Amino acid sequence: MPRLRAVRRALPPLGQLRRERRELLHTRENKLRDLGGLVLEMFRRDQFRRELVLEKCTELASLESRVSELDTLISVVVSRGRTRAAVRCECGAPVFWGARFCAQCGRPVETA
Ligand SMILES: [Zn+2]
Repeated sequence: MPRLRAVRRALPPLGQLRRERRELLHTRENKLRDLGGLVLEMFRRDQFRRELVLEKCTELASLESRVSELDTLISVVVSRGRTRAAVRCECGAPVFWGARFCAQCGRPVETA
């Protein structure tokens, strides 16, 4: 499927994905707090504005779906990195991305 390939090529670097995810989670915390304050304020004034609450909730829901999209992208990038960087130790065991020692013989992994 050409469309899938295009998406794979367009994958941003891991650091960028993680940064966006972190910022979104931070924004989410703030928006949740604002929403709580808003609802409380409505209660105080005895003026419940349903539309406003729906709007804020929709915003939060789309933010959360972007976060789960990022989770998927991050796991794809991480597993691709592992596959690509997989090399073999002198003992013949595969050494995975990020490993500092061979899991089989314990030799330190040389970083080229
Ligand atoms: Zn080894």
